[in-house]
Amino acid sequence: MEHETDVCIVGAGYAGLTAARRLTGVGKSVIVLEARDRVGGRVWTQSYDGFRLDFGGTFLGPDQDAVRKLVSEFGLETFPTNYEGEKVMAIDGATRRYGGLIPKLSVGAIGSLGVGMARLDAMAKKVPLDAPWADPRSRRWDQQSAGAWLNRHAHVPVGRQLLGATVRGVMCCDPSEVSLLHFLYLIRSANGLSNLLSTKGGYQQDQLVGGAQSMANAIAEDLGPSLLLQTPARSITREDAGVRVTADGDVSVRAGHVIVAIPPSLAAQLHFDPPLPTEKAQLLDRMPAGSVLKMLAVYDDAFWRADGLAGETVGADSPIEMTLDGSPPSGRPGIIMGFAFGPYARQLGALSDDERRTTVLAEYARRFGPRASNPADYFDHEWANEPWSRGGMMSRWAPGTITQFGAALRTPVGRIHWAGTETATVSHGTIDGAIRSGERAALEVVETS
Ligand SMILES: Cc1cc2nc3c(=O)[nH]c(=O)nc-3n(C[C@H](O)[C@H](O)[C@H](O)COP(=O)(O)OP(=O)(O)OC[C@H]3O[C@@H](n4cnc5c(N)ncnc54)[C@H](O)[C@@H]3O)c2cc1C
Repeated sequence: MEHETDVCIVGAGYAGLTAARRLTGVGKSVIVLEARDRVGGRVWTQSYDGFRLDFGGTFLGPDQDAVRKLVSEFGLETFPTNYEGEKVMAIDGATRRYGGLIPKLSVGAIGSLGVGMARLDAMAKKVPLDAPWADPRSRRWDQQSAGAWLNRHAHVPVGRQLLGATVRGVMCCDPSEVSLLHFLYLIRSANGLSNLLSTKGGYQQDQLVGGAQSMANAIAEDLGPSLLLQTPARSITREDAGVRVTADGDVSVRAGHVIVAIPPSLAAQLHFDPPLPTEKAQLLDRMPAGSVLKMLAVYDDAFWRADGLAGETVGADSPIEMTLDGSPPSGRPGIIMGFAFGPYARQLGALSDDERRTTVLAEYARRFGPRASNPADYFDHEWANEPWSRGGMMSRWAPGTITQFGAALRTPVGRIHWAGTETATVSHGTIDGAIRSGERAALEVVETS
C-alpha cells in the first residue's frame, strides 16, 4: 500500500510516538511504522487483576519534566514507589538490613564505596552532555572500560563489587564491556549517582497507576490510522524531494522526512540507499543493547511491609542484584520486582522456566522470609530475546566508540533524523530521555521543512 505524508516515523516507542504527537500538533501529517503488534517498545504493561504489571520501563523520577508533562497532559496519575522500611543486602550467604543509600558494611568497604561514588560523581560533572567526543578529558575516559577504572580505583573487594553492580544495573552489561565515559555520561545526564540510584527523590520515585505504557496507548489512539502496527520498516531510500520508506506488507511511504526512532542495533539492519555515511553506519554497528531480565512475583499483599521492609534489596552474592517494591500504595497486590543484569541476566535466562522460577523465589524467600516462596503468580521477561528490542535498558558505548563516532549520533543524514533514548542528553537511557529525543527530532523536522 502506498502512503504520502509529511513525515514517516519508524518505531512507536516513546521517542517515535512523541515525535508523531508533536508533529501532528503543528499540522504535519505522519505515518508511524511499528514492527510489534503494540506500541511502547521497551515499555510494556499488562493488566493484572485490576492492577498492572510493567515488564519494561516503569519508574519516573521527580525531575523528569518531559515524561511528567506527558502524564499531566493525559490526566494520568502516579503513585510513589514504597520506600518506607529497611532495605536488605544479601552478601556472603547472609542477609543484612539497613537504612539509607549505602548498606552497613565494614568501615573499609563503606569508605571504598563512598569514595568511589564521590569520585565518579565528581568526574561526571565534567562530562559535557552535548558533545563529549569533542572534550579532551572525556576522550581519556573513553579509552578505558568502567571495569578497568574500578579495578584500579576501588581497592576494597566489596566496594568494587558493589560499584560493579551499579554499573551492571544501569548499563545492563559487565563493567568490562562499557566505556567509563558512558557510565559518567549517564551519571551526569541523571544529575548525579544518588539521583540515578535512589527511590525517594531519584529515578525510582514514582510509578504510573495504569502502567508506564498508558501514555503510549493514549498517543496511539489519537494517531488512529496513521499508526501501522506489525509493519516493520526495512529500507530507507533518499530521493530528490524526500525519502521513501518500505516496510513489510508491501507498505511504501513517501515522505518529506523520516525519523528513525528505534534502537541503534536495529537501525543498523535497515537497508539505506544510498548507504549511510561511514561514521553513522559504523556507529550504529557499535551500539549493542545489554541484557536485562525482570522478574515479577505477585502476592495477595505486600507482606514484607508489616515486617518493616521496604521491598528494596541489593544482592552482592546472587544474580538477582536488585529488587524494588512494585505494589500500589495499598499493598494489594504485593509485587516484588527483581532484576538481573548483563551476565547474570544471561545466566538466569539460560535456566528452564521452572528452574528460574524456583531459583528466583528461593532468593526472594531468603530476603523477605518464607512467604515469598509462594506467590499467587510469577512472571519474568528477558529483553535480549525480544527481536524488536534486542536487549535493554539502553545501548552502550564500548570504549573508544563515542569519541570516534559520536558526532554522528544525532546529526541528520539529509532528511533522515534520529531519535530514541540513546540520542538523549538529559535522562539518557530512560523514558523521559526517549520523549525528549522525540521532541528534539520533531523540532528538527519543523525547522528544516
Ligand atoms: C527491563 C527494563 C526496565 C527499564 N526500566 C526503566 C525505568 O524504570 N524507567 C525508565 O525511565 N526507563 C526504563 N527503561 C528504559 C526505557 O524503557 C527506554 O529507555 C525507553 O522506553 C526507550 O524508548 P525508545 O522510544 O527510545 O525506544 P523503544 O522503546 O525501543 O521503541 C522503539 C520501537 O521501535 C520498534 N521497532 C524496532 N525496529 C523497527 C523497525 N524496523 N520498524 C518499525 N518499528 C521498529 C520497536 O518495536 C519499538 O516499539 C527500562 C527498560 C527495560 C528494558
